[in-house]
Amino acid sequence: MSQKHITRRIVLTIAGITLLAGSTLAQSGERPEPRWFKGNTHTHTWWSDADTAPEVAVKWYKDHGYNFLVLSDHNIMADHEKWWFPNHKNPERQQILLQAVEIYVKTFGPDWVETRTREGRTEYRLKTLAEFRPLFEEAGKFLLIPGEELSDSCERKPIHVNGVNLKETIKPPGGKTVLETIQNNIDAVMEQRKRTGQPMIAHLNHPNFGWAVTVEDLMRLRGDRLFEVHNGHPMVHNYGDDERPAVERMWDIALARRLTDLNLGIMYGMASDDAHNYVNWEIKSANPGRGWVMVRSRYLTPQHIVDALERGDFYATTGVVLDDVRFADNTLELRIQARPGVSYKTQFIGTLKNFRDSRGSAAAPPDRSNPEIGKVLSEVSGTNPKYTLTGQEIYVRAKVISDAKHPNPFREGDVEVAWTQPVTPGS
Ligand SMILES: [Zn+2]
Ligand SMILES: [Zn+2]
Repeated sequence: MSQKHITRRIVLTIAGITLLAGSTLAQSGERPEPRWFKGNTHTHTWWSDADTAPEVAVKWYKDHGYNFLVLSDHNIMADHEKWWFPNHKNPERQQILLQAVEIYVKTFGPDWVETRTREGRTEYRLKTLAEFRPLFEEAGKFLLIPGEELSDSCERKPIHVNGVNLKETIKPPGGKTVLETIQNNIDAVMEQRKRTGQPMIAHLNHPNFGWAVTVEDLMRLRGDRLFEVHNGHPMVHNYGDDERPAVERMWDIALARRLTDLNLGIMYGMASDDAHNYVNWEIKSANPGRGWVMVRSRYLTPQHIVDALERGDFYATTGVVLDDVRFADNTLELRIQARPGVSYKTQFIGTLKNFRDSRGSAAAPPDRSNPEIGKVLSEVSGTNPKYTLTGQEIYVRAKVISDAKHPNPFREGDVEVAWTQPVTPGS
C-alpha cells in the first residue's frame, strides 16, 4: 500500500467515525424540539433617533427574557464608523440624552465606552453590531439580528417597512403613490435577498401612523405576508379613530379580500415595540416591552427565525403567553399558560364565504362597516379554547383577551392580549 493509500484510508476511517457519531447523536434525540423564542423585530437606538446607546437597548431586552432582537434604525445599519453626541434643540429632550449618556457610561464603563473631543464637546463612537454582539449573544439563548427600518414617504405620509436580517443598508426607493411606495420598499428587501442569498423578510410597520396606509393599500400588497397589528409607539393609532378603522379591523378586511377575489394570500400580524425611549418610563414615551412575537423554531438562528415568521409559525402578544397553538383536522386549538388570578377569554374571529359585499372585482371598495367581516364566530373562556372550522369560513384567527392590566401599555387601561395567525379550511 502506498503512502497515499494509507493516508486515504485513515481519512476514510475518521470520516466513518464522524458519520457514526453524527447518526448516534440524532438517534439519541439530541435534535432539539421546536420551542418558543421571544423576540422583538423593531427597535431604535442612537444610530438614529432613539434616546439610548445600542448596548443599553440590547441589555434591556436580554435582561427581560427576550431571545432575539432586531435592531432597526431609520435608514441606517450599525456597520460603520459613526460618532454621536447629545444634541437636541428641545432642552427637555437634551436633558434626557444627557441622562442616557450617564446610563451608558455607568453600565458599560470606561473600558468599553470610546470618546473623543471635538469643538469642546465629548463625542461617543457608536459601536457596530459586530463589535457589541459578543457581549450579549449566547447560542440557543440570545441572538441579535441586523435590520433597518426603511423610512420612506409619499404625499408627506410616512411609509415604514422593516428589513429583517439585511446584509446591506437599503436606500428607500420612493414611489408615486402610497401603495407603490410600500411595494417598492418590500421589493427592495426581496431584491437584496435574491441577490445575496441571505434569508430576509420585510414587514410593514404601523399602518395608521400618520394615517398613511389605508386598508385598500394593505390588501393589495404583494410578496409580503407580514405587518404590525400592534406597535407600542404612542403615536401610531393602533385603534383607529371615529372615521378610520383600527389596524386589527384592517387585517380582517384585507384577509377577506386577499383570500377571495384578490387572491394575494394570507397576512400575518406581528406585535413590536418600536422602542425609542429608555430613560423615562411612562405611557407617552415609546418604551420597550409593549408587544412582541413568540416564534416557534428548533434553532435560534437568523435563518430559522426568518423561516418561521415567513410560514406564520408565531403569535403576537402584549403579555399573554401560549404553550401551544395547533391547527389539525380543521380544529384550531390553543393552550394558554395560566397565570394565577388571571382569567382569559378567546375570540375566534373570521369571515364566512357568503359574506355580503360588493366584491367581485379588485377595484371594489372594501366594506369597512360590514359586521360580517371579522365577526366573532365563537367566544370561549378558560385556558384550552378550540374552534372547529365548518368549511364555510374564508379564514379564522384567535384573539386571547386576558383581564390582566398591561404594566406599561400602548393606551391607558389596555389589558394583555395575544393574536394567533389566521388559518384557512383544510390548510
Ligand atoms: Zn416607523
Ligand atoms: Zn420605528
